Amino acid sequence: MKFILLVLLLSLTAFSHDDHDWRTDYEAYLSVSSEPMVFPKTLGRSKKRIDLNEFKKNLVTLSKIERGSTANLDITRSFLSEEYKKIGFEVSLQPFGSGTNFIAEKKGTSSPEKILILSSHIDSVGNKGANDNGTGTIGVLAVSQELAKNNYPYTIRVLGFDREEKGLVGSDAYVATIKNKAQIIGNINFEMMGFHRKNDGGFHVIDCERPFLLGTPSEKLSLEIKNSISKLGLPLKVVKACTNRSDHASFWRAKIPAIVISENFFGGDADPCYHSKCDIVDERLNYSYMESIMEAVLDATEALLQN
Ligand SMILES: [Zn+2]
Repeated sequence: MKFILLVLLLSLTAFSHDDHDWRTDYEAYLSVSSEPMVFPKTLGRSKKRIDLNEFKKNLVTLSKIERGSTANLDITRSFLSEEYKKIGFEVSLQPFGSGTNFIAEKKGTSSPEKILILSSHIDSVGNKGANDNGTGTIGVLAVSQELAKNNYPYTIRVLGFDREEKGLVGSDAYVATIKNKAQIIGNINFEMMGFHRKNDGGFHVIDCERPFLLGTPSEKLSLEIKNSISKLGLPLKVVKACTNRSDHASFWRAKIPAIVISENFFGGDADPCYHSKCDIVDERLNYSYMESIMEAVLDATEALLQN
């Protein structure tokens, strides 16, 4: 009996998260979208735009160090600065009380005051965080590398949030600096997207159906991603879930439209290495799955940057 209790206690501990984890099971509600699964039609290499080799290379680099200490996060920010400068983005830092957010920007050509934000948290929980949130952070970079090749009417702003794992501290600090909220088209926040045991194309585009927000509803952002999936014939399907546990929630609190993209965490694809030492770059990361997600976001982002 004691043994059973111990096992029960251990498994409860394993699945209980502190206040700062964004994927708390009781918060999520699940229902597989009624939209039929879209299978790839003629999406040949020629139509794919994300450079997967570059993505892998940068993910390996980012995942070399634990991103918890200020010193290691400084290295991370330097690495990101170099990469974004290479593609012509203007780079800056936003220090706040306990950390520093990374910012990179490409100005819009005709209406630069309108801004679309792509974000990810750059910190980890004392591990290498290859999936959480290396895949999100390098995913934003991969999309930006493609966006850098064209000009768009609106501004693209990339944000790498510090101290997400400590309670969305960095994104809260950033949102507090936004003077004109109406100029923000929205925030597309990338979370871990590399684990895909079910291999059925399921992933999350989480908007929590927030129609009460001022201005553009968050669903407009989700809708663009769904449009891009069907337009490109990507092998993805949106699995519904709702959670406040990532940096998008700081935007919601400020009534700014936001969504979070992630692997089908609540629907059976939760990474077994989540917040563990084994969250390294290895064969459990599914690159073609991540490629499809990035292609969808890239296409949707382009639509949002001009209409
Ligand atoms: Zn995360």
